[in-house]
Amino acid sequence: MNSQHDSQGFGTRAVHAGSPPDPTTGAVMTPVYLTSTYAQEYPAQPKDGYDYSRAKNPTRTSLEVALAALEGGTTALSFGSGLAALTAVLHLLKSGDHVVAGNDLYGGTRRLFERVFKQFGLTFSYVDPTQPQNFAAAITPATKLLWVETPTNPLLAIADLAAIAAIGKKHGLLLGCDNTFATPYLQNPLALGFDIVLHSTTKYIGGHSDLIGGALIVKDAELGERIRFLQLAVGAVPGPLDCFLQLRGLKTLHLRMARHCENAHTVADWLKQHKRVKRVLYPGHASHPGHEVAKRQMRDFGGMVSFVLDCDVKTAMDVCARTKVFTLAESLGGVESLIEHPPSMTHASVPEADRRKIGIDDGLIRLSCGVEDARDLIADLESAFPK
Ligand code: PLP
Repeated sequence: MNSQHDSQGFGTRAVHAGSPPDPTTGAVMTPVYLTSTYAQEYPAQPKDGYDYSRAKNPTRTSLEVALAALEGGTTALSFGSGLAALTAVLHLLKSGDHVVAGNDLYGGTRRLFERVFKQFGLTFSYVDPTQPQNFAAAITPATKLLWVETPTNPLLAIADLAAIAAIGKKHGLLLGCDNTFATPYLQNPLALGFDIVLHSTTKYIGGHSDLIGGALIVKDAELGERIRFLQLAVGAVPGPLDCFLQLRGLKTLHLRMARHCENAHTVADWLKQHKRVKRVLYPGHASHPGHEVAKRQMRDFGGMVSFVLDCDVKTAMDVCARTKVFTLAESLGGVESLIEHPPSMTHASVPEADRRKIGIDDGLIRLSCGVEDARDLIADLESAFPK
């Protein structure tokens, strides 16, 4: 699907893959094909397979070709949200199958595992993803899938993708990685041995906090066709306008990511020297336990920084409410900086005992560093911090 792009640089692929000028009009930007159905000249002979937009839509096709080119996959499939994409992965399994997942996951991922798919007979084990051998130890005869997020949300721990892939391969398992935090600009799990990459395109790929979307990208074309069937049969597809916005976002992904990474590094350095900050969780610091693995498998360290303030839960929540440049909001990956308090917001659905076990402390604050000027981000945090 993306062979003509294989040798091109990331920026060239981001701008051009999937969206050549429109052959009919020469329109430089892919049109938004707001149509549910397509005229056919003869029964059951749709032109290029376009018979109904749940199955195929030209704007979505452009986006899917671009995503495959950026992740180095044969096939990409778009969904109406990141969790809809994850649902398609779980629909590859059947009752009785077992999944081993990292224990520090987006809260909604865990909720989908525990409160939806458990009812249908899937079982889940959670392990510390920073130690690859933990995955090996949790594998049972029923295990079919290893699921990893790296960097993790919200603790920004790093999982060694190549080492986990080697374990999964030895046991003949499907390997899935949520690459939302890193984006294809920083990390390509398929090249490290994974079978499926998931993105909540709501985040960096859309990049402007104006849509909800998800995608799966795979290396193996046959697996791609199984997921394409699920995309059609389950029907959790995005609309063409959301596909257009994601395609537009992709064209500047490399530019935005470079600035997100630079700002995060500056903010993390400032936090590290602050007397009220107990711990900075940022894989770009040499003191971070996952720094060496991150250096090996990522091109930079991403735009997310978490930290633990030396304070009680109320003070941490007050800080989040006081910032002015950082907007207090869930989500991440947009051009604007966001601040949030995981224990009471994004990870409130994780049971308190589990939160404490994995280190989601009361004073934990998560930042999504946007593309503003770093000095304004620091001044904003300084004025919101307890004196
Ligand atoms: N994966 C990660 C790492 C996320 O942060 C999120 C949402 O915050 C999701 C998946 C779910 O994506 P969506 O909200 O698009 O369904």
